[in-house]
Amino acid sequence: MKRFSVITAFPEIFNGFLSSSIIGRAISSGLIEVELLNLRDFAEGKHRQVDDYTYGGGGMVLMAEPLYKAVQAACSISGRAMVIFPSPQGVMLSQEVVESLAQEDHLIIACGHYEGVDERFVESCVDLELSIGDYVLTGGELPAMVIIDAVSRQLPGVVGKAESVAEDSFFRGFLDHPHYTRPVEWRGKRVPEVLLSGDHGAVLDWRRRQAADRTIVRRPDLLSRANILPYLSCGFYVTLFSAPDISLEELERICTVSGAYGAKKVLVVTPLQKPVTTDLSMVKRFSSLESAMSWIGKSEKKVPYVVGMTEAPCGGVHWLELKRRVLERDLPLSLVFCADELLAKEASHFDTMMCLDERGDKIPLSCEVSVVLDRLFGSR
Ligand code: SAM
Repeated sequence: MKRFSVITAFPEIFNGFLSSSIIGRAISSGLIEVELLNLRDFAEGKHRQVDDYTYGGGGMVLMAEPLYKAVQAACSISGRAMVIFPSPQGVMLSQEVVESLAQEDHLIIACGHYEGVDERFVESCVDLELSIGDYVLTGGELPAMVIIDAVSRQLPGVVGKAESVAEDSFFRGFLDHPHYTRPVEWRGKRVPEVLLSGDHGAVLDWRRRQAADRTIVRRPDLLSRANILPYLSCGFYVTLFSAPDISLEELERICTVSGAYGAKKVLVVTPLQKPVTTDLSMVKRFSSLESAMSWIGKSEKKVPYVVGMTEAPCGGVHWLELKRRVLERDLPLSLVFCADELLAKEASHFDTMMCLDERGDKIPLSCEVSVVLDRLFGSR
């Protein structure tokens, strides 16, 4: 079970949130526990004062001591907890942050109010300052609800269908596909036919394509963090063009990394007719780039999108733009590694070039392949 302790001077704000809908059910079924600590219960004096004027002039700030005592009280039950202070100056809340918070057993959220809190409390007790966006709210209560809601829905059982969470926007670095419900026709607009077809595979393909198209158009920046492979309907191939001196060990490393990232084959093209003798099952040999690309075309039944890797400054597109283009084209993909002179000679075979960082011969080809594959098909 996940435990949240919220320290607030205004606990009544949470009433509806904690008793309704998915969060209400998660609490009543014991999947999460949310404890509200009223800051005033930790204040001194007849008036239970929790705030005071800011030194140097300005509005009111929450005092450090009541906040400190509330944190101590919240910690006393679990022993180890992460203390979060919602603040517009904090790290921006994102799906990655939410997923890492979901790993913690106990989160203490100390809500600021008015001008904020005494900085000495932040220095002494807070592990993480979190912002929910570049705007200023009157208090940390809404951000606390946002954090509890987003973290809770990552926990098994909180959202009825685990697949719904996995398909949500940002979960895999992509936006969600559109959703429809009854009636089939509403004010002249029909639900897309494929969703009515009962063909599960076709529905999956349609959803994937919709998610890809939306992400490309609305949030191409997200692609930097996402593995695009599950959204491609064809395979990708690593092509080593004219690497006659490559050792068997190096070829083995390239096959291992290519296989791990989901490549279908490693194509070794040796126009110089220097034999690459190998029985690696990942490897297919060709004597020209043309024959290698037409072999991909035949096995995938679509002409491949051929991308050369270049170290020439401004000689190609940035890897993020390449990700966008690959997703947009949705064709079999051939990533061709070869020397820049050869790229120029064989330019007619390439659809585009991707810029590599200039490293000369400083790193082995297998490392270069790993870096490229991780940029395109690694998840952040
Ligand atoms: N003077 C503070 C500043 O400019 O950084 C803003 C204080 S704000 C009016 C009061 C409290 O609301 C903050 O201490 C914080 O707990 C919460 N808060 C306001 N905006 C927030 C945001 N975008 N993200 C997270 N918490 C926020």
